[in-house]
Amino acid sequence: MRNPVAAIANHYTCPDCLNDGHLTQLDTGVWVLTVLHDPTCPFLAQRKQAQNGARS
Ligand SMILES: [Zn+2]
Repeated sequence: MRNPVAAIANHYTCPDCLNDGHLTQLDTGVWVLTVLHDPTCPFLAQRKQAQNGARS
């Protein structure tokens, strides 16, 4: 049977770059999707800026 979580992960695409994704199963029914954005991705730059702002 095809894994429905993997099907969702395979279809996740960043609107701003050609991202890559890795799906890791931590436990039964517990999955983590890691999205690897391009270094020049505007979405990634916004995320980094927001995280830096939250720390100060
Ligand atoms: Zn991206």
